[in-house]
Amino acid sequence: MLATPCNFHTLCLTFAETHLQAVPDIIQLLSDHIANQIAAGEVIQRPASAVKELLENAIDAGATEVQLVLKDAGKELVQVIDNGSGMSPTDARMSFERHATSKIRDINDLFSIRTMGFRGEALASIAAVAQVEMKTRKQDSETGSHLVIEATEVKKQEPCAAPQGTSIMVKNLFFNVPARRHFLKSNTTEYRHIVDEFTRVALAHPQVAFRLWHNGAEQYHLEAGNLKTRIKGLLGNAYEKNLVPVEEKTDLLNISGFIGKPEAATRTRGMQFFFINNRFIRSPYLHHALVQAYEGLIEKEAFPFYVLFLEIDPARVDVNVHPTKQEVKFEDDRIMYAYLNAAVKHALAKYNIAPSLDFTLNPEIQQLSSVQLPVTQDRKDETEKGYLFNTFTQKNQAHLAVKKDSLREWKELYKIADDIAEQQTTANAPNMVTAPSLHKEPETANAKSIISIQGSMLVTTVKSGLMLIHIRRAQERIWYERLLAEWNNGNTPSQQLLFPLSYEAPPQDALLLTEALADLSRIGFDISPFGQNTFVVQGVPTALPAGEEKNVLDEVIEQLKHEATDAVAKRSEMLLANMARRLSRNTGGLQVQEGQQALIDELFACSQPEYAPDGKKVFTLVKKEDLETMLG
Ligand code: ADP
Ligand code: MG
Repeated sequence: MLATPCNFHTLCLTFAETHLQAVPDIIQLLSDHIANQIAAGEVIQRPASAVKELLENAIDAGATEVQLVLKDAGKELVQVIDNGSGMSPTDARMSFERHATSKIRDINDLFSIRTMGFRGEALASIAAVAQVEMKTRKQDSETGSHLVIEATEVKKQEPCAAPQGTSIMVKNLFFNVPARRHFLKSNTTEYRHIVDEFTRVALAHPQVAFRLWHNGAEQYHLEAGNLKTRIKGLLGNAYEKNLVPVEEKTDLLNISGFIGKPEAATRTRGMQFFFINNRFIRSPYLHHALVQAYEGLIEKEAFPFYVLFLEIDPARVDVNVHPTKQEVKFEDDRIMYAYLNAAVKHALAKYNIAPSLDFTLNPEIQQLSSVQLPVTQDRKDETEKGYLFNTFTQKNQAHLAVKKDSLREWKELYKIADDIAEQQTTANAPNMVTAPSLHKEPETANAKSIISIQGSMLVTTVKSGLMLIHIRRAQERIWYERLLAEWNNGNTPSQQLLFPLSYEAPPQDALLLTEALADLSRIGFDISPFGQNTFVVQGVPTALPAGEEKNVLDEVIEQLKHEATDAVAKRSEMLLANMARRLSRNTGGLQVQEGQQALIDELFACSQPEYAPDGKKVFTLVKKEDLETMLG
């Protein structure tokens, strides 16, 4: 039996033992075996994860033919045979070490990586939780190597006869982690996961031939070809007549592939594939961009088919944000959204599928033809100055599309304030708002002069003396009650974002946010969950200043974490207070006399003008007598 490579660890322990004997130490280094098992849990969750890693390694090794052999949905056996580069005996041994990779040498490689794998963890992880057997031979070697590893332990390595390339068998996955093995799903489910992975890899590499056997029967036999034949081979002939090609080249990204005609859209998910630089990714945000382009062409609940490849400078995407590398971050995802959306609209229009598309109303589409020009620095600069770019980067301009209905409602709300101001200045009419208040007859009604103290306090004369009002708290109270009223009516004005935002919550917080979605929708947020921790924000409260969306959500989550959230009533109250605070922070224009008066009037129309939502005092009265005393 060969020893596992833990010399360094052993050395450390020896050092610790001999030099620090007096102190009872309790910290131990995990053995490589356990460390590998833990790491394996991240990379290998089920047979399908092993399939993915092995297929990608085969592709990276330049294989032109890849075979996948399964038994019992991969629980008993996952075998991948390729005709790629093969490995030398030393490389064969090294490939199972953690962080062993031939694909990066330097941290900078991470930002330009084009191969599929790059963490050097897959084989080590697989070997930690299975019985692995590998045969491999490089083209220029006479003999190959045969390697047997079980739970990270090398059991055997010897020369053998082998065809060029590599064959890796993964047997009895999780044989040594019974808890994991126990949690594997039925064969049907696990097999489906494998087919998903197989499909993704096969779609991304139509130039490679693939075959898949399950329990001795051949399930797929895919000849090398082009994307169209690959789609047919994987998804069936029926798809062919429904494919619409997409082909857009811009200086930021290239988009190519196929989308389905609207009539081919299905009620079930699963036929949606995005690849970024040939790597399959999930992106609810991009999915949204695509579905949006079908608006009016398919039912709301339907999913269009698509297999789209996005080529982008690797420096502009970060695919390494998730251990299984299916999620991405873009340098600027709004531009991706816009381009993708426009490209799909363009394709649909070009093939006369959406004759109703009005080009004069779709500047993004017009823009596309011009973005198709050859790439030069000048063009790049021009793009960045262009309409498309700016539309998506300057939020306060064309970015926001306001729903007409909400706009009207909201304007009405403001009108109340205007009217009050007007009445004050012109007819000197009584306060239009007649909600009950602490002061049956608002003392402020006759207020003549208002002084602002450094923009943070208002002082006004009332019959009995002076009134000091804390401006921000007054605003909070007013907003709070407005929101509360809307909340109770169940119709908070919401403004639809023309380009929805994606909001990603840390996994541990995503649930909190999910639970609060209904409440958030009542205060004007239109947010839907997309994928595990991602949300798409499609609408925000009309009064929310642009650019604040993410901050508000961050804050909401922060509060949900710290407050007792079990009581729903309390949670809504808290959300309202939070929004009120956020909105108040951005209310300006108090320099104008009428604005100040309107504020005071609206404050006293509140049911609880005396306190801000957080319980702090909004105003105080300084009696004439007190003032006299003060002056001696
Ligand atoms: P990564 O793919 O991230 O480098 P892996 O653990 O998947 O890490 O593989 C480790 C290394 O083993 C690879 O970098 C590659 O050099 C080698 N390797 C793995 N599979 C194959 C294969 N099928 N053919 C040739 N080399 C392989
Ligand atoms: Mg790999």
